[in-house]
Amino acid sequence: MIEVRDLQVRYGERTVARVPELDVREGECVAIVGESGSGKSTTLLSLLGLTEGAHVSGHVRVCGVDVLQAAPRRLREIRGARVALVMQSPQAALSPATRLGTLMRRALKLHGVGGGRIEQVMRDAMETVMLEHRILRRYPHEISGGQAQRFAIALAIALGAEVILADEPTSALDVTVQAEVVGVLRRLREERGLALLLVSHDLALVSTIADRVLVMKDGEVVEAGEAAVVLAEP
Ligand code: ADP
Ligand code: ADP
Repeated sequence: MIEVRDLQVRYGERTVARVPELDVREGECVAIVGESGSGKSTTLLSLLGLTEGAHVSGHVRVCGVDVLQAAPRRLREIRGARVALVMQSPQAALSPATRLGTLMRRALKLHGVGGGRIEQVMRDAMETVMLEHRILRRYPHEISGGQAQRFAIALAIALGAEVILADEPTSALDVTVQAEVVGVLRRLREERGLALLLVSHDLALVSTIADRVLVMKDGEVVEAGEAAVVLAEP
């Protein structure tokens, strides 16, 4: 689902991320860990061609699309539908005056889901993330951070996402709520075969969900391997 070779992202003269190799297959979870500023988010965003102003080279394939060569139209086809981006504070991205249900319905129409199927698709997606259906009547400011994060994931599922790119998806949440969001992500990959690329500085979180881990430092991958092995090291 994700295949990266010799990725290099530069801002001006400065190389901020260099990733020789990164693969995420169906049903797999790979985590990128490392200190703040090590190039994790840049790597994640470059997979969708979202590193504005950067010079990006190498080979990046996501859901069969050659991201660095693809026409903008082709990129828009995968962004938001087949590949979902889950950020730290999803509430900020939701339009404040729109009820969640309206927002989801609009997104589905925009992506060509037919009228008759919409309500069923929405019901399934909300069930999958364990949110009550009545939450759809609320406005973004009326839900909690954990609910907003699960709603963002529900939206991705409704749109048929095959890949989730998650950038610190739990760092703005309470510890108990973090576990709920991680539980949802884990089920998606086990039950639906989604591929998950997770950026986090939280090693405890990563150890509960990732199969493989890349450690970044100053823009370089300094270590990569099985999560249990990489995380066990002092
Ligand atoms: P992390 O996600 O590991 O915290 P980032 O990928 O956000 O790290 O940032 C890596 C480096 O790239 C940082 O030094 C940051 O200052 C730099 N950087 C990120 N975005 C830009 C940008 N738009 N222009 C210039 N430098 C940037
Ligand atoms: P979470 O544990 O998901 O972060 P909280 O502990 O913050 O949720 O909140 C618990 C309950 O309070 C939730 O069911 C949520 O519906 C409600 N709630 C939280 N924040 C708000 C808010 N700003 N407006 C209305 N209801 C809220």
